[in-house]
Amino acid sequence: MQTPLKRYSAFAIAREALRDHTGWQRAWRKAQPKKRYDVVIVGAGGHGLATAYYLGKNFGITNIAILEKGWLGGGNTGRNTTIIRSNYLQDPSAAIYEKARSLYETMSQDLNYNVMFSPRGVMMLAQTEHEVRGYQRTAHANALQGVATEFISAQRVKELVPIMNINGPRYPVLGALWQPRGGSARHDAVAWGYARACSAMGMDIIQKCEVTAVRQEGGKVKGVTTSKGDIDCEKLGLVVAGHSGALADMAGFRLPLESVPLQALVSEPIKPCMDVVVMANTVHGYMSQSDKGEMVIGGGTDAFNSYTQRGSFHHLEETVRALVETFPMISRLKMLRHWGGIVDVTGDRSPILSKAPLEGCFVNCGWGTGGFKAIPGSGWGFAELMARGQSPLTDEFGLNRFTEGRFIDESVAAGVAH
Ligand SMILES: Cc1cc2nc3c(=O)[nH]c(=O)nc-3n(C[C@H](O)[C@H](O)[C@H](O)COP(=O)(O)OP(=O)(O)OC[C@H]3O[C@@H](n4cnc5c(N)ncnc54)[C@H](O)[C@@H]3O)c2cc1C
Repeated sequence: MQTPLKRYSAFAIAREALRDHTGWQRAWRKAQPKKRYDVVIVGAGGHGLATAYYLGKNFGITNIAILEKGWLGGGNTGRNTTIIRSNYLQDPSAAIYEKARSLYETMSQDLNYNVMFSPRGVMMLAQTEHEVRGYQRTAHANALQGVATEFISAQRVKELVPIMNINGPRYPVLGALWQPRGGSARHDAVAWGYARACSAMGMDIIQKCEVTAVRQEGGKVKGVTTSKGDIDCEKLGLVVAGHSGALADMAGFRLPLESVPLQALVSEPIKPCMDVVVMANTVHGYMSQSDKGEMVIGGGTDAFNSYTQRGSFHHLEETVRALVETFPMISRLKMLRHWGGIVDVTGDRSPILSKAPLEGCFVNCGWGTGGFKAIPGSGWGFAELMARGQSPLTDEFGLNRFTEGRFIDESVAAGVAH
C-alpha cells in the first residue's frame, strides 16, 4: 500500500535533525511494471516527468508508467548548463518558453521540493552590428509578446558584469539583450521534484527499463516491449531527446531531426565573481557561476551525428579560447570536468510536440540545445495534447509544419538556443 507523502518543511528539518535524520522517506517508490497502463511515457528526463506530472495534476490521469532505460534525470536533463530564459523571437516560442519560465517561479512551492530557481538575469551579448540589430528586434518582439526584456548598452553590461572585458580586439561588446527574470535552477532537483510528485500520485517510475519495440494493432498503438517485458497502454508518449529518431523508427515513422553531441565543462570553484548568466553567441560560449563557485561553461554542438555522451576536444579548446577574450580572468582557472549529452536538433531549431502518424502515439522532442528551460511549459502543453488531443501551447509545434513549410525559425534569431 502507498504511504502518504510527508511534506518537506522547516519543521521536518528540525525534527529530523533531532533524530539523526532517520525519519526521511524515499523520495519516490521503486516500482515494477504492471501489465497495462492508461499512459506510458518513455524517457524519465525533465520533459517526460513533467508531462506525467501535469497529466495527473491537470487532468486526473494517474495510471501512468514512466519508463527509463538508465536512471531518471541521467540524460540531457542532468547534463545541461541550466540556463532559463524566454526571450525567443517567434510568438509560439515566446508563449511556451514564457509559460515555462513563469512555472519555474513557483515550482519549488508547487512540488514542495527546492529546485533552487535563481532568477539572477540572463544577458545575450551583442558583439557585432548584426547582433545589435537582431537583439533590438527581439526586444521589440518580446515587448509585444509580454516577455520582459530590454536591450542594454555596453556600459550597463560592464556594470552588471565587472569581470568582463567589453573592449576585446576581435569582438568588443556593443550591448546585450537582457532578461532580468531569466536565470537558472538546479537541474537534478527539477527531475527529482517531478519524480517525487509523480510517485506521490501513484504513478510508476521504472528505471533500468529500456523500450526495445513499439507494438501496434490495426494502425493503433498497443504497447511497448521492454527489457522488463511487454507493457500495454492506451496512449504512448515518446520523450527521449537524442534517442527520438530510434524510438520513432520502432513506431514506424521518421522524424526530421539529427542527434549530435553538445558539451559543457566546469572550472575549479572560486569566490563569487559573476551573479548573472552571460551568453556570447557570436563566439559560441556561455557562462554562469554555480552556487558551489564553479564557472559553468557551455559551447556549441559537434558537427557530426553521434550517440556518445561526450564531445570532441577541439570544441572545448575553441569555446574556452573564445571566452578568454571576453573574460580574461578565466585564463588562470583550472578546468575540472567536462561531459556531453546527445541533443535532438530540428532544422528550424524549434521543438516537436505532436501527435505521431501512429494513432495513440505522441512525440515530444527536438528541444535540441535549449530544452531545460522549457520543461514545465512543455510538460503542461504536452499533457494537454495527450489528454485532450489539442493544446494552444503546442498547436504550432506539430510535425505537419515540416510538410506545410510553416517553420518556426529560431536558428537565426537565437544563434544558439541554450
Ligand atoms: C551540455 C548541454 C548543455 C545544455 N544547456 C542547456 C541550457 O543551458 N539551457 C537549456 O534550456 N537547455 C540546455 N540543454 C538542453 C537540455 O538539456 C535538453 O533539451 C533537455 O534536458 C531535454 O530533456 P528531455 O527530458 O527531453 O531529455 P533527457 O533528459 O535526455 O531524457 C530522455 C530520457 O530518455 C531515456 N531513453 C532514451 N531511449 C530510451 C529507451 N529506448 N527506453 C527508455 N528510456 C529511454 C534516456 O535515458 C533519457 O534519460 C543542454 C544540453 C546539453 C547536453
